[in-house]
Amino acid sequence: MSASRGSVPRVFSENRHITPRRFSRLMTIEGISSSPSEDGSMELDVLIIGAGPAGLAAGIYARRAGLSCVILEKGVPGGQVLTSPMIENYPGFPEIPGMKLMDNMAEHARRYVDIREGEEVLRVRGGDKFEVSTTSGKYHSRALILTTGSTHRKLAVKGEEGMTGRGVSYCATCDGFFYKTREAIVVGGGNTALTDALYLHSIECKVTLVHRRDSFRADKHLQESVAERKISVLLDTVVEEIVGGEQVTAVKLRNLKTGKVETKPVNGVFVAVGEVPSSQLAAELGLELDPGGFVVVDKTFRTNVQYVYAAGDVSGGIRQIVAAVHGGAAAALACFEDLANPYYRRS
Ligand code: NAP
Repeated sequence: MSASRGSVPRVFSENRHITPRRFSRLMTIEGISSSPSEDGSMELDVLIIGAGPAGLAAGIYARRAGLSCVILEKGVPGGQVLTSPMIENYPGFPEIPGMKLMDNMAEHARRYVDIREGEEVLRVRGGDKFEVSTTSGKYHSRALILTTGSTHRKLAVKGEEGMTGRGVSYCATCDGFFYKTREAIVVGGGNTALTDALYLHSIECKVTLVHRRDSFRADKHLQESVAERKISVLLDTVVEEIVGGEQVTAVKLRNLKTGKVETKPVNGVFVAVGEVPSSQLAAELGLELDPGGFVVVDKTFRTNVQYVYAAGDVSGGIRQIVAAVHGGAAAALACFEDLANPYYRRS
């Protein structure tokens, strides 16, 4: 674990509730130390699953509260923000590329907590302690914070699955470069779709926005930027089929008002129609999910299962970085209160 006991004085300076004597007692009560158990598994107070903004904030707050903790991340830290070309609404950073913001956040978190990259959780079991099996080992923890995020929703039309990676993409910043000076559509009407269209336009892609309604739900300033740059827009229109073989060659578009179907030649289809929560582990643990599959949490980010917390995109809400960071921090503090039962929580 990269964070050492050397971080103790920071806790004193920022949390007036924990005196030095109380802190040293907390550090010695059962379970508030990370150690390998007899079967080689790691014993922790809290295991955080997912290293997006929520998970990284949770790690910082959990460690600073004195809890032993590890963050498991199946890919690389950062989550979906990594693919945002520019973030303009995270306070303190008027303009920062998503990748840079998340690099900073991960570097900050690493001062406190071990982030285990490329380690995927395969199974989670409840019991006296949670047992978590991963692609690299086993962990036992007294609590879990799920910050597993969400994945891209699919259009579910003919040609989409077969041509994913061959003209169909869910990430304009990752794949946009290949469409420089070529024709592409972006499907969707939210912040992601308009951000993607602006990004593609900026790299000289001939881009058209295709949206099923007569207006966008994206922020007004994004709509204004799209209008200012005269990006082509097709409203009341859905994609019926993505056409091609080895590569995308066209899309069949249906106008919902007229019923007319038109074939538009394109090289690329960028799908930006929202998110599906990654809540499979939550379901395994018996957490309550809402009809959209998001984990139901209270305002402290506790779930219906004791010692399990969820934050960030997997718990729904406004799905903003600032909200994810808030959720991660609040979940870690709730976890600290439940595990350490500090004096200000006792009746
Ligand atoms: P979103 O806000 O959920 O928007 C999804 C869009 O896709 C909606 O316009 C929706 O249409 C459309 N859609 C959904 N299913 C569809 C389907 N099967 N076929 C065609 N269209 C479909 O998703 P998002 O844009 O990915 O944003 C997710 C969250 O991230 C939001 O909270 C957003 O504010 C945030 N975000 C923020 C920024 C930023 O602040 N810079 C950037 C990106 C994302 P309807 O409108 O008809 O429902």
